Amino acid sequence: MTATEWELVVGLEVHCHLKTRTKMFCRCELEYGAAENTHTCPVCLAHPGALPVPNARAIEMTILLGLALDCEIAGRAVFARKNYFYPDLPKGYQISQYEAPLCGPGRFLLPTEDGDREIGIVRAHLEEDAAKTVHAGGATGRSVGADYSLVDFNRGGTPLLEIVSAPDLRSADEAMSYLRLLRQTIRELDVSDADMEKGTLRADVNVSVRRAGEEGFRPRWEIKNMNSFRFIGRAIDAAFRQQVAAHEAGEEVVQSTYDYDPDTDRLTVHRSKEEADDYRYFPEPDLVPVEPPAGLVEQLRHEVPEPPAERIRRLASELGVGSASELVTTGNDWKAELLASEGLDWKTASAVAMNRGDFLRINAAPLGQIVQANVTREALDEAFAAASEGPIRAEDYLSRVAVADEDELAPVIDAVIAAHPEQADTYRGGKEGVLGFFVGQVMRETQGKADPKVVNQLLREKLRG
Ligand SMILES: [Zn+2]
Repeated sequence: MTATEWELVVGLEVHCHLKTRTKMFCRCELEYGAAENTHTCPVCLAHPGALPVPNARAIEMTILLGLALDCEIAGRAVFARKNYFYPDLPKGYQISQYEAPLCGPGRFLLPTEDGDREIGIVRAHLEEDAAKTVHAGGATGRSVGADYSLVDFNRGGTPLLEIVSAPDLRSADEAMSYLRLLRQTIRELDVSDADMEKGTLRADVNVSVRRAGEEGFRPRWEIKNMNSFRFIGRAIDAAFRQQVAAHEAGEEVVQSTYDYDPDTDRLTVHRSKEEADDYRYFPEPDLVPVEPPAGLVEQLRHEVPEPPAERIRRLASELGVGSASELVTTGNDWKAELLASEGLDWKTASAVAMNRGDFLRINAAPLGQIVQANVTREALDEAFAAASEGPIRAEDYLSRVAVADEDELAPVIDAVIAAHPEQADTYRGGKEGVLGFFVGQVMRETQGKADPKVVNQLLREKLRG
């Protein structure tokens, strides 16, 4: 048996913080980056006798996302207590949804090289996040080896949406495309920032393998709290390799929680089955069931925008560029579309979007103007950085136009070539990679003001000559 005869089986549990003004069961405000323990009250600190009151907006946001995932919306959802002890969970239980979640089975269309794939959504439910434990001292930032640990209760009680996929994903790339497109859907609905760096989006990854054509599933490994796309992909590949090796060696593959170590590119067991959790779920006695009125569900249904998968497919055919799956992989289609709608040609729009971070929608028009004005790379970087923070003005950047005048650039380029005869010979000897060195020198001489396209073209001509 070789690895090619094994099939990868992946399911994702995605958690995201909802962008409500206040917490899930109390009126403490949510503020990312606030001073520690400044947003707390008797409810989220679990003082005896304090009673939870559900956040109506969080329930609406969950329904909105459920509708976007084609889920059945429950007529009656029940909050349940998930019991476990941890220092960042003062109640000794988390309020979650267990047997009766708000959003039942649904589906998510994922454009792939071979057409659309339907990824099953098992459920989407609403719960509260735990507080945040910070381990101080020690090298790893983990509890082991720390001098002491502190708890910040600001995060405790943040509304948390959990979206559970069916084990329908068949490769690391597919899992990452699913996660990217799901993140985009969440962001477009404006229910969460869904930012892995800020911890407002996290994923638990369940991985198993089976022989091609085999029915049913083998024991899976659960990799918890992943917060980097790159590591998710690598962890899935590592789990595949290790499980196939174990199955082929006739070793038992046990279902348990694993940690991924990027340094060794291997998974190690975190917790074995003997200590499997029993959360003793039971209905939360302090809360009545949630019964969303049909009118509300219908109203929210109208708020669901065009799903990214559909828009991407439409874009790919309308613009005749890039396959739909490519657009998903880059996750930049909406940025490129916004820039293209400001008059940029699609190729430029996607190239610019590809290399920059997210920006606020209101900044699409000034950014379009700035890109078209052919400003310096530095000015463009600054404009895009500012465009993710707040509204920008094109006028502030338009004067910093890149030097594209050949007569102005020619003497600089001549001087740079004359100063580096060895590198020039290397280039002429066939090592085209040296061109980058020369471009760098010219950019330095012009303080980054030269138009790289013109510099590239002039350098080639002059080095050849
Ligand atoms: Zn509170």
